[in-house]
Amino acid sequence: MGKIIAIANQKGGVGKTTSSVNLSAGLAHLKNKVLIVDIDPQGNATSGVGINKADMNQCIYNVLVEDLPAEEVCVPTKVENLDIIPATIQLSGAEIELVPTISREIRLKKSLENLKEEYDYIIIDCPPSLGLLTINALTSSDTVLIPVQCEYYALEGLSQLLNTIRLVQKHLNKSLMIEGVLLTMLDARTNLGIQVIEEVKKYFQDKVYKSVIPRNVRLGEAPSHGEPIITYDPKSKGSEVYLELAKEVMSNGERVR
Ligand code: ADP
Ligand code: MG
Repeated sequence: MGKIIAIANQKGGVGKTTSSVNLSAGLAHLKNKVLIVDIDPQGNATSGVGINKADMNQCIYNVLVEDLPAEEVCVPTKVENLDIIPATIQLSGAEIELVPTISREIRLKKSLENLKEEYDYIIIDCPPSLGLLTINALTSSDTVLIPVQCEYYALEGLSQLLNTIRLVQKHLNKSLMIEGVLLTMLDARTNLGIQVIEEVKKYFQDKVYKSVIPRNVRLGEAPSHGEPIITYDPKSKGSEVYLELAKEVMSNGERVR
């Protein structure tokens, strides 16, 4: 049985997609069978693994809104052991179209049920909001991984996210747990980054990963080449740290289960 991890934070630009793609590729590199589920209408994870959105006539939208079996929308990527359910701009309608539908919060959960057998990890890349799409992700998941950018207002907005997680635990998914908090885009040359790390650790304690993602030019470049960092530049610092993170996530799973 695979583990489903939602990567969520309603703030944009904190490293959700970068972490979804590169954690997934790291886990795949370590011989796990991995599926990325892109539920952000921007489809950045989709293009980030080299899938041309213009070529897609089906995506996660058809699964969520039209009950198309998820298996039919899975596509392989160039990375061994890594598949993706893509998102296209069509998904932007789903947030509104789902509102009047039956069991609107559990649609993703239902559609991933069969796939859970086939993968070791299913990683869901969430949009930058706490709307129905993110609720669907949290309802489907065993755990949620929260990327936090190492910047001045790092903790701002996190109470809102934690509150949403509590509401989902209460009403939709009792067993949802926090997988971990990932510090991203650290600029090691500034004191600010170090201060933010201390502040976040004070709040989340041992939930914070030892691996801290540095600000790294190659990590920023990789998506425009449609590749995870591990194939784009395997020797870069970014590649090294995301691989370390994948190992941490794997050992976490053993402890939890
Ligand atoms: P989100 O999905 O939370 O909106 P992204 O992962 O898309 O955030 O990251 C926002 C932008 O920052 C993207 O252009 C991405 O390429 C870049 N980026 C993310 N992480 C890093 C990093 N560690 N170093 C350099 N650039 C990064
Ligand atoms: Mg994103």
